[in-house]
Amino acid sequence: MKTPIPYYLAQILDKVRPNEGGEVADYIPELATADPDILGVAVCSATGHVYHAGAGEHRFTMQSISKPFVYALALQEFGLAAVREVVGMEPSGEAFNELSLGGDHRPVNPLINAGAIVVNQLIDGVDSTVEDRVETIRSFLSRMAGRELEIDEQVCQSEVDTAERNLSLAHMLRSYGIIQDTAHDAVLSYTKQCSISVDVRDLAVMSATLANGGQQPVTGEMILDADVCRLTLAVMSSCGMYDGAGRWMAEVGIPAKSGVSGGLLGTLPGQLGVATFSPRLNPEGNSVRGEEIFKLLSADMGLHLMSTERRFGVYPIREIEQTAEEAIFYLQGHINFTAAEAVLYELQQDNFRGARLALDFEQVTGFNTIGRRMLKEGLRRFREAGVDVAVIDPRARMTNLEMSDGTMVPVAEPDDYQIAGEGT
Ligand code: GLN
Repeated sequence: MKTPIPYYLAQILDKVRPNEGGEVADYIPELATADPDILGVAVCSATGHVYHAGAGEHRFTMQSISKPFVYALALQEFGLAAVREVVGMEPSGEAFNELSLGGDHRPVNPLINAGAIVVNQLIDGVDSTVEDRVETIRSFLSRMAGRELEIDEQVCQSEVDTAERNLSLAHMLRSYGIIQDTAHDAVLSYTKQCSISVDVRDLAVMSATLANGGQQPVTGEMILDADVCRLTLAVMSSCGMYDGAGRWMAEVGIPAKSGVSGGLLGTLPGQLGVATFSPRLNPEGNSVRGEEIFKLLSADMGLHLMSTERRFGVYPIREIEQTAEEAIFYLQGHINFTAAEAVLYELQQDNFRGARLALDFEQVTGFNTIGRRMLKEGLRRFREAGVDVAVIDPRARMTNLEMSDGTMVPVAEPDDYQIAGEGT
């Protein structure tokens, strides 16, 4: 069987293709040369499965999509307190390139240009050269993507040649002592960051790395702390779409970041990364078709973050083998609160009244704290009721096996639990 996901994505592209609204950005001359009809979408699961439709391998510059990632790098290197000294976390309600700072002269958030210039300056410390700083950023973004990314020097030069507005921001930041580099160097460094070239598949994987708590799901590399990903996604959700951020959260509900070259990236925490490319932009600087694709994905695939639907990802019970005396519950997927609730609910149903119970965790990919605690508590209660309980946990998914009463969950070998009448 061939997975239907790319086919489904292609259908979405067909729906949005007729929309020729919006304009290709031309304030950076090199961007104005983009083919406005190019259209692509990619999705990467938090487990690292990548799907795409349309122009999956067409390269474009990240532009502002680089901002949340470099913010994450700064948080990882310096911690929230230090980063907050120079940039806030509040939505600006203004355009991305607005000449505005907060009351204390700090940029209000890291996703507007003023904030991103400041965050860029943090990387590698004040004494860094532009070259070293840019290399640190390029190599970090490459690890996120799982391949060596390159800077599109042509786009970079074209932007540097016309960067009056960003230069004025940098002058302002330097006059308040928020950055130390000359305005020229600060803008050059930031513009190089914006000119790193990717395709939608790269972006989907990078986004899935944030969704996956900082572990790159394809290479398996641990790149960021989960806390850093959470903070970054929180800022993306309130500030990522500039002055359209509130409407975006209501209509789409996927933390996102747009770039003026036409890319749009979205992250659904714990679930997946999405990226689109289509160069025509609305007046807010967001891709017109990209926004439409996200609306369709959110509605059709039920991806709205604020959805009150119960979500299991994968149904946590793969199979139940049982006789009058014993039962084995084969679990699977990620056991969070909702999944654990479903397992416990099933366990307490009439269909299990035996004297022996085992939970098989071989196919379980992970637990969160509450999911693990709830299952242990369920086992403890069964034991209290006189049931002989055990876990089958060959990959040690339950790790700390201490139950809430301080005793240990008994671990069984798979062969200890054989349903009567089956094999030996
Ligand atoms: N490099 C672009 C700029 O500073 C990025 C803006 C964007 O993508 N919104 O203008």
